[in-house]
Amino acid sequence: MKKTITVLIVISFLLLCSCQKTAKKTFFALDTVVEIKTYGEIPDGAEEYVKELEKVFSKTDTKSELYLQNEKEESTPSKLLYGLIKRSLDISADTKGAFDITSGALTGLWDEAAEKGALPDAESINACKENCGYEKVRAENGSVYKPKDLKFDLGAVAKGYIAELTVKKLQSLGVSSGFASFGGSIAVIGDKPDGSGYKIGVRSPDGDGVIGYTVIRHGIVSTSGDYERYFEYGGKRYHHIIDTATGMPSQSGVRSCTVISDDGTVSDALSTALFVNPSLLDELYGKYDFEAVLITENKTVITTAKAEFVITAKDYSPADR
Ligand code: ADP
Ligand code: MG
Repeated sequence: MKKTITVLIVISFLLLCSCQKTAKKTFFALDTVVEIKTYGEIPDGAEEYVKELEKVFSKTDTKSELYLQNEKEESTPSKLLYGLIKRSLDISADTKGAFDITSGALTGLWDEAAEKGALPDAESINACKENCGYEKVRAENGSVYKPKDLKFDLGAVAKGYIAELTVKKLQSLGVSSGFASFGGSIAVIGDKPDGSGYKIGVRSPDGDGVIGYTVIRHGIVSTSGDYERYFEYGGKRYHHIIDTATGMPSQSGVRSCTVISDDGTVSDALSTALFVNPSLLDELYGKYDFEAVLITENKTVITTAKAEFVITAKDYSPADR
């Protein structure tokens, strides 16, 4: 397994003038490096707040609320966990399972494969597929009902949601400008003090450099890419985003998908969904409030109407749509 997590999005933190002090805090949580940068001081308690959320949503911590809840057929989770499960189930249905939070059995199988550096066999893949499916779960009046062997995996949505909650917390503590980065999801807080927005670059799937950039003033940016976490076997790459229809790493022709939204649940979940099934773009664009930038293996860039993405890489061009 490639352990280093590539930074999929880059964000500029420079001011036109250097008139205001900046602060930075870095720590490890949710299996990624968390970075908070603000203009002015970072208030006390930011890291502790993220660590509290990690206790609820962590996929790997065997004491997390999610982990314990996954063992049960019936449960009444905390409001926070129930809320994210409920919304994620709705998005799973709207994306026809391209994003599916009930894919824990399959993603677990592929996580194990990555650890071992060997492919799972077809029988195991089919057995795990049987234990996935958002339509097998009910979330009603604060309670969740699911088959015992069906496991939630919030890995494709929790970081976007937590990024949103973290900037809201920072704002409530007086921060008016800055950002919080959780690997593939970055949440920005307001304009920079000089009034300019944040320049967000989308990394090239093939190495250093960026494909282009957009400027945002608020919201959460999430990127899913095939070059982020992967292992190699028999000269082929196997990445970490699974198409639950095939049980295999998705092969949709998309190398990376970036989604920008004021809703971190939407940005993170849809970045995964559109990476797996880009043909859902128009339908989802009509239903949710977001902009998207998809980089394809043919070196084309698909953008939604108001994404305002500027392509700077010479070998990439806008897709005909
Ligand atoms: P990352 O969180 O690594 O930046 P994503 O948001 O795309 O990227 O989430 C990928 C993670 O989500 C995987 O590591 C796995 O735990 C889980 N996952 C993989 N495929 C799917 C899928 N089709 N639907 C929902 N979750 C998935
Ligand atoms: Mg995601």
